[in-house]
Amino acid sequence: MKVKALLMLLSLWVNPSSAKVSIEEFNIFVSEFTNFINPYTRDAGASRTYNLILIPDRNFSAWFRDPIEISQGVLDHTSMTVDALALVACHEIGHDVSMAKKFLPNTIVFGWNHLLQDYFASYSCIKPFLKHTVSFRHPNLTKNQMDEIPLELQTKCETFNSSEVDVKICLRALHASISVIKGLYDHKLFREEYSRNDFAAPAFDREWIGPGDHLQGRLITFKNGVFGEEPFTGPY
Ligand SMILES: [Zn+2]
Repeated sequence: MKVKALLMLLSLWVNPSSAKVSIEEFNIFVSEFTNFINPYTRDAGASRTYNLILIPDRNFSAWFRDPIEISQGVLDHTSMTVDALALVACHEIGHDVSMAKKFLPNTIVFGWNHLLQDYFASYSCIKPFLKHTVSFRHPNLTKNQMDEIPLELQTKCETFNSSEVDVKICLRALHASISVIKGLYDHKLFREEYSRNDFAAPAFDREWIGPGDHLQGRLITFKNGVFGEEPFTGPY
């Protein structure tokens, strides 16, 4: 029985059929994302090209290295979609800070680490990528996915954008934000810092509840980036 369970685990490792984003989708994504991001950042003066690889780590994590590393745990998380993967990849590109800042208003203040990257991801990166992609163009969010976006923000996407394509991209970027934050929320690392009981799940319709609530600040920053508003800066 034990051997059988181990074999099953091994086969999952080799071909993680439980993955929400498959290896095939990941490979297509990498090709289209690098196709988008390299000319986009080169035009802004980036001195390097970016590539992405998958690493077998089961945590919800990604690393700004050369190439950028995305953990298998990101693809496997129940909340993951290709759109959310794009937001993760965009966040990592944002770790090239001097380059990312070329896309951002220079008056902006960031409260803590990763907010600049989150803001770059939602303000400057995911929307043009969703416009660029061919394989992942314009899928409609499912009803369940739409239900995760508060009505008020759905309406805001409609009033903020003039074309139907842009409204759809706005909704997809918001949904990707929720998905990424859910993955981070479940990330084991956070268990070391917070007790799950007093660490409320971040939600678009919840205000900042106090110090240490970093994921809520990150979710607000993603959302504000989508609408071109200032990132979250505190209180913290
Ligand atoms: Zn980061």
